[in-house]
Formats: sequence, structure tokens, C-alpha cells
Amino acid sequence: MPTYKTVYKCRECGATSYQQVIERAASGALKPTGQYKCTGCRNVFASLRAWWEPRRQVDFQSSKLSPLEISSQ
Ligand SMILES: [Zn+2]
Repeated sequence: MPTYKTVYKCRECGATSYQQVIERAASGALKPTGQYKCTGCRNVFASLRAWWEPRRQVDFQSSKLSPLEISSQ
């Protein structure tokens, strides 16, 4: 499995390389799932950005709830 080096660092462990997550499809072909696995902590991230970008709790919550949803509760 190829390892990719980047200028970014894992937000969890500080590793600077990752691997693409590969899955075997029904046809037997190996396909990348679009997810990335850190070579340091082995965590799987939904995107490359999620791997290196520090967590921002406030932004995460405000983007999940639209003003409409908040007022209807
Ligand atoms: Zn890591």
C-alpha cells in the first residue's frame, strides 16, 4: 500500500504521512474509498482535510444546525 508524504501533520499524533483506504469491490477490483488512514495513529479520516485540520468545535456545531432548525425546537 503506497504511503503519501505531505507537508501537513496528523492532528492526532503529528505523523506526516498517510495511506488511502482501499476496499475490494464485488468485482474483485481494489478501489479507494475516499478515506485516509494515518500511518502514525492508524485512525481513519473521512477526508485529507479532516486528517490535518485541527478540530474546531464551534464551527462544527454551527454548520450542523441551520437557523431554521434552531428556531423550530
Ligand atoms: Zn495520526
